[in-house]
Amino acid sequence: MVIIFFFLYHGSTSLKFITVPWCTINTMVYEYSNPSVALSYLCSISLLISDVSKHIEELDEDLAITYSQTATVLPHARYDCTLAFCRAEQDVSGPLQDNAKHCDQCFCYICDKLASTCELWTIPGICHCNAHKHSVYWKALRDKSLMGFLHELNFTFDPLDMDSDLRLAETSLQKFAGSLAMKYATFLLGFESPNHSANCRCTCHRNINSNTQSQTIGCKGCYQHHFKMLEYDYTVVSQHIKMFLNEAMKGNPKACVVMLLGAIKLFVSHTTPGIIQAANTVSETVSKLLWRFMTKVWTILVGFDFSGSFIKQLETFYHKLPRPSNCTLPKSLSVLPWDDPLLSAVMKGQNITGERQAKGRRHQVLFEPLVVIQARVCKLQQQNKYRELARYLKVVKSINNPTLQRMKDLVPLYLCKDGDYSGAVCHMLSLMPGATCHASRLTPQQFRAYLRILTSGHAPDVAQEFDAGNGHMIIPDPLLSTKWTPIEGSNSFKMIEVLKFALRVLDCNTIVFADSETWVYLLSVVSSNFTTPDGVPVGAFYAEPDVTYQTVTRDAASAILEELTTTSRIQIPKAFERGYPDQARLLLATQALVLRIFHSQLKPILGIIMCFKFNRWALRWFFYSLLVRPDVLHYLLCCLLEELSDERYQLLQRKWSETEHSLVAYFLCMYFWENSMVLDLNTYPTNSLLATWNESHNPWQLSLKLYLECNVAKLTPEKRKILHLIQQQGK
Ligand SMILES: [Zn+2]
Ligand SMILES: [Zn+2]
Ligand SMILES: [Zn+2]
Repeated sequence: MVIIFFFLYHGSTSLKFITVPWCTINTMVYEYSNPSVALSYLCSISLLISDVSKHIEELDEDLAITYSQTATVLPHARYDCTLAFCRAEQDVSGPLQDNAKHCDQCFCYICDKLASTCELWTIPGICHCNAHKHSVYWKALRDKSLMGFLHELNFTFDPLDMDSDLRLAETSLQKFAGSLAMKYATFLLGFESPNHSANCRCTCHRNINSNTQSQTIGCKGCYQHHFKMLEYDYTVVSQHIKMFLNEAMKGNPKACVVMLLGAIKLFVSHTTPGIIQAANTVSETVSKLLWRFMTKVWTILVGFDFSGSFIKQLETFYHKLPRPSNCTLPKSLSVLPWDDPLLSAVMKGQNITGERQAKGRRHQVLFEPLVVIQARVCKLQQQNKYRELARYLKVVKSINNPTLQRMKDLVPLYLCKDGDYSGAVCHMLSLMPGATCHASRLTPQQFRAYLRILTSGHAPDVAQEFDAGNGHMIIPDPLLSTKWTPIEGSNSFKMIEVLKFALRVLDCNTIVFADSETWVYLLSVVSSNFTTPDGVPVGAFYAEPDVTYQTVTRDAASAILEELTTTSRIQIPKAFERGYPDQARLLLATQALVLRIFHSQLKPILGIIMCFKFNRWALRWFFYSLLVRPDVLHYLLCCLLEELSDERYQLLQRKWSETEHSLVAYFLCMYFWENSMVLDLNTYPTNSLLATWNESHNPWQLSLKLYLECNVAKLTPEKRKILHLIQQQGK
């Protein structure tokens, strides 16, 4: 757009028409970067324009001027003044010709204030009156004065871009530089260790020490030596730096990011003049601080979309920063903007590989530094964008390290938080190229947490402060968090799917497979129709199915599990759940438990027996499944009796109600009722049970005796003898 406006000069009575593009006006306004000056300048322009339009009657090809008024003088740089100005590239010896003169609207080009207020206007060696924009020297000086301390720190912002944020950063950094220098100087002085003289190794000291009580006497030379034994404590300095970090975090993102980067430059080369050990401590602290600062920088860069040119200037500054020799920070500062085509396609689920081959362009891979990934994860967590977070983490690549793996391992949790249970389960069980499947790396606690999520519709809170100590973010495992909240819009996951998932994990994860507590939790889950928000499965009574069904189900369950162990696949025919779905699932889990016990010893066993509290028939089914291996059943009996008499379980038993005591008795009874199970009263564990019999102290023993007395006809003569001895013990 082209606009016509008046350009008025001091002392001129004539009017000039000049056509000037808008951008020139902008530039002229910018040149007066002092906002109030710029504003008054703009006002004058608009005033003139409106005056002109009012009084111009005809504005066409032939412009007619019908009105003029006394010119208003606008602020201007000295070299633009109507007063004669003598230009030289760089002459500061004194005012050239009439350069010292100025009108009352002349501005100092360097100080950006009225020439009359410039204190360096005519000072030899400085001489601001000679300054003009066509000189490289004066231009550089002006840039430096506008940029102030930021220029000294080597930031390369365009001085015309200096806004309130950059000014704030400039003043804060300058103040910080001063206070930090004082603290650092004090640190460099060191201090004398108060304990030092007592440990002195000087010969004079040693001699005196052995003869007299005093340990403080020494010779003159020795004291000189002591004086040099200084200690250095960087704590005060590092605390001062941390305080600045906190102060910076209070400001706008733009000011903050400049303050953080500028501050790094001020402390990054700190070191100790003292002994090597102290120097190591300082370099370690500096490196930690560096990481802490840079983490915040990346968090801000990821959190806010700054202009490309601003990022570029930060990048230039970052490149020139001195780096400690052991520094592992990424080489580049810049991060992909959120609307980067590949990144946004990944977030939207349109790209599931993290790679892109655009026509005529180079192959692009979503590869980001670890800290940037961490910053993105934090941002997406804060926004509750779990679906996007999972998509991003699935494909993003970085330098492989345990932290990245830990972050990627949370993908199923994020999917769960998004309500996508099958997605989560599928992800855990899918085989990754070059890596073991996630399910095989779950800890028992993590596995139980997933069972809890899938059955309760609640998930642990994941929001966390992102603060890297030294680049390795130590975050507590969110799966073990104690704070759980409902999953919004969660669809319930079918119990059979939960069981299938559990069985597959047990099949591929030896640690989970070995863990007794996990089996207890799984059995509780399949014996329950409802899990409380606290993750406690509420036990349910399932009616006992007919005997034929029980037998058929044992074979079917064995076949399903057999296929699982050989092919790692689990297929449950629809017919399996028909008629008694709850019972079928409980029996399938129980049969898996049987195979587990056949595999190796499972301790403690008492908790597992208790899982059958509401479904005794299933406990009997369990016993008869085990019966194919009488040796295992016998071993199980030994374990059970040991646990029952174990000190550690006494407290638990005291809390038992009649139901629990009776359940244990019922299980033990089956050893008596089943004729193929041999119990010898003279061998372990029967002899031990008899020797320690104390039914007044152990209600389960009383319960066992009553069971046996009611069914005495079923017992073999040998077992009757045992009952007889028990009865005698009770008297
Ligand atoms: Zn002037
Ligand atoms: Zn000046
Ligand atoms: Zn000494």
